[in-house]
Amino acid sequence: MSKLEEMKKIKDELLDFKESPLYAERVANGVFPVIGEGSHDAEIMFIGEAPGKNEAKTGRPFCGVSGKVLDELLAHIKLDRKTVYVTNIVKDRPTNNRDPKPEEIEIYAPFLDRQISAIKPKVIATLGRFSMEYVMKRYGLENELQPISKIHGKKFKMPETETIIIPLYHPAVGVYNRNTIPDLKKDFEVLKKL
Ligand code: URA
Repeated sequence: MSKLEEMKKIKDELLDFKESPLYAERVANGVFPVIGEGSHDAEIMFIGEAPGKNEAKTGRPFCGVSGKVLDELLAHIKLDRKTVYVTNIVKDRPTNNRDPKPEEIEIYAPFLDRQISAIKPKVIATLGRFSMEYVMKRYGLENELQPISKIHGKKFKMPETETIIIPLYHPAVGVYNRNTIPDLKKDFEVLKKL
């Protein structure tokens, strides 16, 4: 199957993902799953947590207040959002933006794994604790896992591959506290160097 066919299949399966505990609410609210956005040939893939209200309304990742901070951080390193791929682990909005439940991460994660396999990014930048924990455990870095305050902005090589994983703070951190923006920018500069 070509990359395009696999990405379309992932999208079609998610649109019809009735097995998800979040599907009924998606339909009841008339909102959308957020599959991902950007280049299928991206060298950098950003992985957030789950869609918020604006994202579910539009079907686009990081298009609300956190997205504004993400855009600011990308602009800081002159990275065009169209050239990267942005997605989340959980593809439907959890009720009232609560944290995703372990069983929700478990049911949606195989779609993320397939997106990673299809796009084959050189760098995976996780945004926040949930995607950091999932990605590091799933891709053989469980022994390196520490609180995000300890390992944000550090580079980890995925075992037996050339892929680099960088845990980053979730952009929402910059929404709640603008004083953190300089530190968030510093972490993004690591991406720029790569
Ligand atoms: N927060 C996330 O983790 N993902 C989004 O798409 C938006 C906000």
